[in-house]
Amino acid sequence: MNRREFLETVAAAAAVPTLATQAPPNEWGSPVFDLHFHLRPEPARNFAHFDGAGITKANLLTRGPAVDRVKAMEAAAPGRFTWFNSYDVTKLDAEQVLTQAAKDGAQGFGELKFHVAADGPELRRIYALAADLKLPLLIHFQEVDHFPGEGTWATGYARSFDKVLEAHPKTIFIGHADAFWANVSADYKNQAAYPTGPIVRGGVTDRWLADHPNLFGDISANSGNNALSRDAAFTAAFLERHQDKLIFGSDCACADGHGGGVSQGNNPAASRMAGKCVARETLGLLKRTTTPAIFEKIVWRNVHKVLKLEA
Ligand SMILES: [Zn+2]
Ligand SMILES: [Zn+2]
Repeated sequence: MNRREFLETVAAAAAVPTLATQAPPNEWGSPVFDLHFHLRPEPARNFAHFDGAGITKANLLTRGPAVDRVKAMEAAAPGRFTWFNSYDVTKLDAEQVLTQAAKDGAQGFGELKFHVAADGPELRRIYALAADLKLPLLIHFQEVDHFPGEGTWATGYARSFDKVLEAHPKTIFIGHADAFWANVSADYKNQAAYPTGPIVRGGVTDRWLADHPNLFGDISANSGNNALSRDAAFTAAFLERHQDKLIFGSDCACADGHGGGVSQGNNPAASRMAGKCVARETLGLLKRTTTPAIFEKIVWRNVHKVLKLEA
């Protein structure tokens, strides 16, 4: 943490002297559920983002032991959170650890972000476990490094994932990240993390959302925002076509829900989001592009169906 980040952290903490116990006012014309929020160590920093961006409820993404931190959040603001847990899928005890997380209250698995093949044995056993436990899972697909040596994540999506969807019909998959979203365009060949320009119709993500009832899309991060910012005519039709399959998430790391601090982990390829809150950018984009009824499905109702919660 540098001096500027330190001062911003202090400022964010000072702005939230007590923990919020109520959802913020209805700034977006609909309550908003953030499917993709990585739990921050200090409770106040989480609330600074939810309240700053107008987020009503959030799904806390955690990795490894987390139940105590999740319980502390739930105690501070009852009814405002759900919880997904993740664990290294290459470890022998992955199924055991994730089963225990489900017993402890995890409502899904994720974010699953690992250097393995999307159709490999490490993830396939987690797909089977999720079906057995009737829990959804959230996967990060990425084929292009953001910086040298980063490596790739859940690889082979465009080549192989329809076979996975067919082989695991009882598993609810929520797709996310660069390769998932770049493949809304049929001309994507892993040429960039975040391709730009008009969408070539018929990309695999667009087709698979239509063809596979067990595939959903998480529109978080620069990847989701970028895909929906390329081609206005495509975006309006895409949101209408998949209005029951898309779920809002932020994956935003900004300090305050207004773009303070660092929003996309200093990822150079995502510099278009520098100084911006990804949650706000994507909520604004959705609001400008689609109807109030579809907006409400994407930011609120759909996630409740997938998590089997009352909206
Ligand atoms: Zn991710
Ligand atoms: Zn933000």
